[in-house]
Formats: sequence, structure tokens, C-alpha cells
Amino acid sequence: MQDRFIGAVSLIPESLATPLIPLLGEHFSGHLSNDQLSMLATESAMDKQQLLLALLPIAAALASPPISHFYVGAIAIGASGDAYMGANMELPGEALGQAVHAEQNAISHAWLKGERGIQDIVVNASPCGHCRQFINELVKGSEICIHLPGQPTAPLAHYLPYAFGPKDLNISAPLLAPQQVELALETDDPLLIEALDQANQSYAPYTGNHAAVALETDDGRVFVGRYAENAAFNPSMLPLQMALGELLRHNLGFEAIERVVLLESSAGQISLANASLAALSAVADVQLEHVIAEPC
Ligand SMILES: [Zn+2]
Repeated sequence: MQDRFIGAVSLIPESLATPLIPLLGEHFSGHLSNDQLSMLATESAMDKQQLLLALLPIAAALASPPISHFYVGAIAIGASGDAYMGANMELPGEALGQAVHAEQNAISHAWLKGERGIQDIVVNASPCGHCRQFINELVKGSEICIHLPGQPTAPLAHYLPYAFGPKDLNISAPLLAPQQVELALETDDPLLIEALDQANQSYAPYTGNHAAVALETDDGRVFVGRYAENAAFNPSMLPLQMALGELLRHNLGFEAIERVVLLESSAGQISLANASLAALSAVADVQLEHVIAEPC
């Protein structure tokens, strides 16, 4: 078991900890398959909801909150039934607007793994307004069930009445729906090819600035993030933050970063370069490679 889960496991009933510990080995990065969840439910004699609530300390152990020291853990259940954990991430010394909330990290985790919808979100603290708005951007967002310790389960519409969302801006393919993007770039650099592929899956209906980040670590691994916009603009999630969240979930530190590429569309109304530079300089002494791709 990874050291970062030792404290969390002590908070979990033994009937669950016993079958869970073998899953928390070196390669665990916060993903549990539907089959693994069923096994854990059977072994611990918990129903799915009890199980997910009991797993929250594991998700919270993925947090990196050097400013607040407040550990938030979230679990998003994808349309496949798999569970994707996420936690809050604050960038040391950097503006609070550059922080990522646990729900955003859990949802982006599911998105990067190919999920096309979210059924449930389980979180250890009441979702803030920013996260309610972020969840509302998802496919069938208002119907997603929110589970909180000690509260009855309720759909997002209960937590965000009179919502403003993508439909109000005439967007019919919301976040996690397949996007029609085709950017092109002539390159044989594998990191740029990966960034291009991710940018083609990004969600930027409000600015057209389809974008992604691919970062490479000192052991040659690649982590990616896609841009995810929001109808209310401010809760948008930057691709660098999404990639940094992936890195941390895989139990690597920011010091492992060797290369970072931000790829953006030439057709966008905005650029994420300045915001990404500020965030990157907070965590790594690495140059930001900024690449522009043309729509086909
Ligand atoms: Zn939040």
C-alpha cells in the first residue's frame, strides 16, 4: 500500500479495509472498476452508497492543499459504473483562482478515462457554488445524484435551483459529450501529437479556444489535461491544472516535471498561455512550450 493512504485506511471499517488494501498498491491512482466496487461491497457487506461514502478518506488522501490544509475528497461514478477519485489541489504561492476543487478533479479524471456521462458524485464536504456550477455543465448535469455524509441523496437540481447552464447559451453538446474538433499540426514530436489529440477532445464552446496540455516527467511518463469551459466562465478548468491533477493522482510530485506543452487553437478568442505560465511557475522551473494548431 502507498504511504499516503496509511492514515486514511485507519478511518475505514476493517471489513472494508481488508479487501481494499491490496488494491492500493504502487499503481493505484484513484480509479476503481465497477467489478472492484462490487467485490468491495460484497466483502464489506455494504451497499454501494455506504461503500462510496466509506471510501471518501482514500479520495481525500489524494489532496494537495498547502494553503488551506483542508482535505476534500470526491468520487465521480461514470456511466460505466467505474469510480474516479479526485481531491483538491492548491498551487503554492499562486492566486486562489488557480486552485482545483475535488469535484473538478474527480470529474476530469472520469473524462480523461473516456467516460461520456456521470451518474453520481460523492463528496466529503458540501459542494461549493463553483462546483455546483461546474457539475451543471455536464451531460444531464441537473440529474446527477449528489451524495454527502449525513445527508439524503439529491440531484444537482436540489443544490442548484434556477440554474444557468450550457442550454441558456444554446450549447447542445455539453461537457463529456463528444466534441466536433479537428485541429491539425505537422509534427513528429510525440508530446505534441498527444497534446493535439487531447485538444481535439477539449470543450471550449464559448471561446473556440480548444486546448490541451501534455507534460512529460523525468521517467518519460506523459500526463495530459484538456480545457473544460463553463457557461459561467469562472468555473472553467484549465488544461494545465487537469494534467497536474493527473500527475498527483499517480503519486508523483511537481519536481518530476521535465517538459510542458500547451497547445491551443488559432481560432480561439482567448489564450490560456498567461494563466498557464503563472500556474506552472508556481510548481516547476520548466519553460512552457506554447504551440498553436490550425483548425482543419
Ligand atoms: Zn468546490
